Amino acid sequence: MSDKIAFQADVSKMLDIVINSLYSEKQIFLRELISNASDACDKLRYLALTNPDIAKASGEFKIILKPDEKENTLTVSDNGIGMNKQDLIDHLGTIAKSGTADFVKNASDNGSICELIGQFGVGFYSAFMVADKVEIVTKKAGEDQAWKWVSNGIDGFEITETNKDVNGTDIKLFLKKDEKNYVDTIYLRQIVRTYSDHIDYKIVLDLDKVGEEVINKGSALWARNKAEITKDQYKDFYQHISHNFDDPWLTLHFKAEGNLEYTGLLFVPQKAPYDLFQPDKKNSFKLYINKVFISDKIEQLMPNYLRFVKGVVDSADLPLNISREMLQNSPLMEKIKNGTVSRLLKELKKKAKNYDDYIEFWKNFGIVLKEGIYEDIKNREEIAEISYFYSTNDNEKLTSLDEYIARCDKDQKAIYYITGDDIAVLRNNPQLEAFKQKGIEVLLMNEPIDEFWPQVLPNFKGYAIKHISQADVDMTWKRAEKKADEGSLEKLCEFMSELLKNEVGKVTSTEKLTTSPVSLTVEGGQMSLHLERLMKNHQQQTAFASTRILELNPYHPLIIKLSDMVMSENNKAKVEEIAKVLLDQSKVAEGEPISDPSFYAEKISSYILNSLS
Ligand code: ADP
Ligand code: MG
Repeated sequence: MSDKIAFQADVSKMLDIVINSLYSEKQIFLRELISNASDACDKLRYLALTNPDIAKASGEFKIILKPDEKENTLTVSDNGIGMNKQDLIDHLGTIAKSGTADFVKNASDNGSICELIGQFGVGFYSAFMVADKVEIVTKKAGEDQAWKWVSNGIDGFEITETNKDVNGTDIKLFLKKDEKNYVDTIYLRQIVRTYSDHIDYKIVLDLDKVGEEVINKGSALWARNKAEITKDQYKDFYQHISHNFDDPWLTLHFKAEGNLEYTGLLFVPQKAPYDLFQPDKKNSFKLYINKVFISDKIEQLMPNYLRFVKGVVDSADLPLNISREMLQNSPLMEKIKNGTVSRLLKELKKKAKNYDDYIEFWKNFGIVLKEGIYEDIKNREEIAEISYFYSTNDNEKLTSLDEYIARCDKDQKAIYYITGDDIAVLRNNPQLEAFKQKGIEVLLMNEPIDEFWPQVLPNFKGYAIKHISQADVDMTWKRAEKKADEGSLEKLCEFMSELLKNEVGKVTSTEKLTTSPVSLTVEGGQMSLHLERLMKNHQQQTAFASTRILELNPYHPLIIKLSDMVMSENNKAKVEEIAKVLLDQSKVAEGEPISDPSFYAEKISSYILNSLS
């Protein structure tokens, strides 16, 4: 009996891209198949920990490559876990990972395709870059029935019952006519050494007349001596576990000694992955116990704010025969995590000494790392220390908090910041005018997390971290400019407060402004306007909207003129109109939406016209 099954639409689309656009680096298909074979052995080895019988038939785990020059085929075999019919349908006919379909649709036919492979589990399908037919014979460990899966990589696949002695999977590639080099043993040896040398199982070349020849080192890379590992070997291993195609930005290989011994091999990628911000993004840090792969789903191993870190930890001191769930809650896990995180943060601190290099990293992963200031009670200060911010001190360069402190006046006791949606808009926020006047530097922050971390880190090295709306700095200075008359100014504030009462809590005069006539702010200590906008965007009801305050600059000619005008009843309509336009203008400067854009646009046009005539 045979079942013909069509590929899911996404798979067809992806296969089409994979087969037709991926001209360079075709040989990586072998890395993908070997990687799957190695995963399959890992899975069975793990099951055998609690059920030794299940792997009895396997004998020693190994991966076999068998080229056949006459047939022009290459078979990749393993004696790992194998697949049953449902596994074949689920894993080799669909794309399981969320978001993949969209990404495939959007991927242009350039470099990004390369990164697509693997990140989405396109891994297996890459076989169709070199083969026009793939035949899989597989038997799942612990089951009796074997299955054959055949496909041309175009419309679908066919599954039939078959026979196979030992559990595991044979993947036979019927190579395309112009892909004959994959039966060339010299070439095969070279590809394996390049891409798969670190695989922890023997990779064997099976040649009819010569017999079996082991062609890789066959030992876990992290367990080897640091001095014997080349940069390229680290890179290949990084690419293997991360499915990335870049060089690692940071490689950290260490051995922790003491009561609890473990080895860590960690990498930070050079580029951010497409799904860094997907809420279901889990870190894929791998846990091994004495070189046996245990899990890449142990959340305790890497905190969420380090979800971009790739790598493994291996400890012989963890109990092998307990469940993943029990491990998850083991205090040893916590210890490994703490040790690993603090080593990594130390390493990042070292890297931060080279600004240009570090900023590349920061621009990719800074937003995520900053979550750690909020989440990680223990390492909060350390993370803040390696965090960088835009600032009024420099238009391009980012600054660390330490550098800020080193620059500020000796009487200054706080680090000031302002939040908003956009750095360029923030730079011109009228609320900064007094700080500029007084020569006080202000950090510019535009990410959602920036609204939260200062709440849990109110102090840094003896300096309070304060939003400028809470600054207790004397904002007055000796001014020579003409100022609006006190009485009329008061009248103007009253008049505007009443007129705009649905939009702002009050209208007041301020000494803080220099060039802007007006500015919008909130009552000290209340939620910032930026945070309010963020909450609104996420459909969060804000039970307590902040009290908005419209501040007037009594030194600005426009305000002086307006306070003169407000004294005469005849001007009422004109003053009303201008007051509304000024409110809109303050919103624009803050990045708030205007309630009636057409009113604003129309008034501005007519003012321009008047100025031209
Ligand atoms: P990924 O390895 O990222 O999951 P692949 O496309 O490489 O994506 O493989 C898809 C799935 O097919 C694997 O997760 C695994 O469940 C199954 N698979 C592939 N090759 C093998 C194999 N040799 N033995 C057992 N299962 C396999
Ligand atoms: Mg794979």
